[in-house]
Amino acid sequence: MFFMMGIMDGRKDFDYNQQIICSDCGRYGRYQVFMTYMVLSIFFIPCLKWNKKYYVQTSCCNTRYELDPEIGKRIARGEAVEILPEHLTRINTNSWERCSKRCQHCGFETFEDFEFCPKCGNRF
Ligand SMILES: [Zn+2]
Repeated sequence: MFFMMGIMDGRKDFDYNQQIICSDCGRYGRYQVFMTYMVLSIFFIPCLKWNKKYYVQTSCCNTRYELDPEIGKRIARGEAVEILPEHLTRINTNSWERCSKRCQHCGFETFEDFEFCPKCGNRF
């Protein structure tokens, strides 16, 4: 029998808006919530998702945090929850930096291979 399956990683952005004053850059911003996961597809139909992780990114300076999975699940269900600082773990590891560059000067983050920060001109 002809049988097709594949494993991919996916990302889902949630329709979540929370106004914040950023503790990092002091500007007004929003929390943007998204989830990453691995998915097994059979005949291009996603059948199984696992390794779900929830993240928060600020719209002002793109600081990333890992979100408490319990809060992430509630946001995924569409509940109106407020994200508090204790739900967030700042990502300081190299896991993101391996595939992205972050400006030391203004915190701008890009996945492109820029030599200079397109926002403030600082050399990466
Ligand atoms: Zn900020």
